[in-house]
Amino acid sequence: MEKRQRSKRTYPERDCENTDCAFEQRFIPHDRRQKFCCEQCRINFYNDQRHKDNKTIFKNEKSLRQFDKSLEKIYKAFVNSDGYCQVWKGIFSYEGINVSLLVQEQQNSTTGGKVKWFYKYGTELHPKDPNYFIIHKKQIK
Ligand SMILES: [Zn+2]
Repeated sequence: MEKRQRSKRTYPERDCENTDCAFEQRFIPHDRRQKFCCEQCRINFYNDQRHKDNKTIFKNEKSLRQFDKSLEKIYKAFVNSDGYCQVWKGIFSYEGINVSLLVQEQQNSTTGGKVKWFYKYGTELHPKDPNYFIIHKKQIK
């Protein structure tokens, strides 16, 4: 069997992908795919990344739960006997709910609109009147 030789090829100097690089910002890669100046730098980068992600998710999660609680309150106050709940859009800002928040969306097959799900509750812009929203409650299967 042929022994695999370590490539002697050199690759052009490039910048380390870690913008907070604490080593060699400018380095000569050993491998074509090498993005970071060294292993430790790569580890640092992903650790920082994960830390940032955790922070944003936590923040959103907190607001989402808060909004969901407020939606529940509105839903309970305005839902009719058929389980349909239509509210004036102004109620969201009154209750401090940010309906433009990026949350999971799902197509409503009946209206063709998009339902933004918080947790148990979701909002959908009224298909005919943009001054109104429909609040949906998740159906428990
Ligand atoms: Zn680096």
